[in-house]
Amino acid sequence: MYEIRFHGRGGQGAVMAAQTLAEAAVLQGFHAQAFPYFGAERRGAPVKAFTRIDEKRISLKSQIYKPDMLVILDGGLPDIEPIADGLRPEGKAVVNTTLRPEEYDLGISVDCVTVDATTIAYEKLKAPIVNTAILGAIAKADDIVSLDHVLQAIKDKFGEKLGERAGVLNAEAAKTAYDTCIEGRCKGERPLVQKATWLPPWEEIPPGTALPVANMGEVVVGPGSSWQNLTGTWRIQSPMYKKDKCVRCLRCWWSCPEGTIKRQEDDYMRWDYRYCKGCGVCANICPASAIEMKKGAREW
Ligand code: SF4
Ligand code: SF4
Repeated sequence: MYEIRFHGRGGQGAVMAAQTLAEAAVLQGFHAQAFPYFGAERRGAPVKAFTRIDEKRISLKSQIYKPDMLVILDGGLPDIEPIADGLRPEGKAVVNTTLRPEEYDLGISVDCVTVDATTIAYEKLKAPIVNTAILGAIAKADDIVSLDHVLQAIKDKFGEKLGERAGVLNAEAAKTAYDTCIEGRCKGERPLVQKATWLPPWEEIPPGTALPVANMGEVVVGPGSSWQNLTGTWRIQSPMYKKDKCVRCLRCWWSCPEGTIKRQEDDYMRWDYRYCKGCGVCANICPASAIEMKKGAREW
């Protein structure tokens, strides 16, 4: 059995990637399964998905704890979580990053393919949805599923869901990633430890009460503690505010899930980028096209 664990952020398409890889494996004659792990995630929050591939029927239903391959849709995730935990020493990693494999520190030194899937996705799809580009790199990293079957599965799945043109464009993103990804071996220098624990263990939550504000190690938990969770580190695209177009309707202000947008005294807006996770909700809801999402964690 071959087991693949995907790590991404909500909105990057990790679940669709896992499902499409399973469908490619089925096209190739294997048995396969794919399923997500949903925590309390929101758009931009870390998510996991899993794919199992085998020559015989798969009855195992658990999460994947010792993957043969780790697929990382956001190369910054190891900075906040020890996501390489459990990866087999002979396993492989596929990472969306601008770094070469030898520059990338995963925490375990394994064979690694890196690809700038974000740039490919922007160029081909005009959006930072990197799942199909990463599938092309997976086909390069291991021949468990051929590129032809990956491309066919993408055309089928994305074509069915989003239309034939979208299927073709997503397949092109995968092919570009296959052609441009870099093979090598990543570094294993960073310690595989959780950087911060955001919640206390259940034993420490007072029964029958709301959680009080408390200091737990280096982290403040409880009401009002979200100021410490700098969700701005999640951002791979940033809202650019065009003040001259703003009609001061305040829709972005009350729609931002992170409370990033501050209302000024004159009712124009100000962004606190420490908390902007780049979800794009504000740009979608703005009726005056006064907010445009731009690639990169930048400030305007
Ligand atoms: S400012 Fe916009 S892009 Fe940033 S978190 Fe809020 S809604 Fe999302
Ligand atoms: S939604 Fe657009 S027009 Fe309305 S306040 Fe925000 S930026 Fe201005």
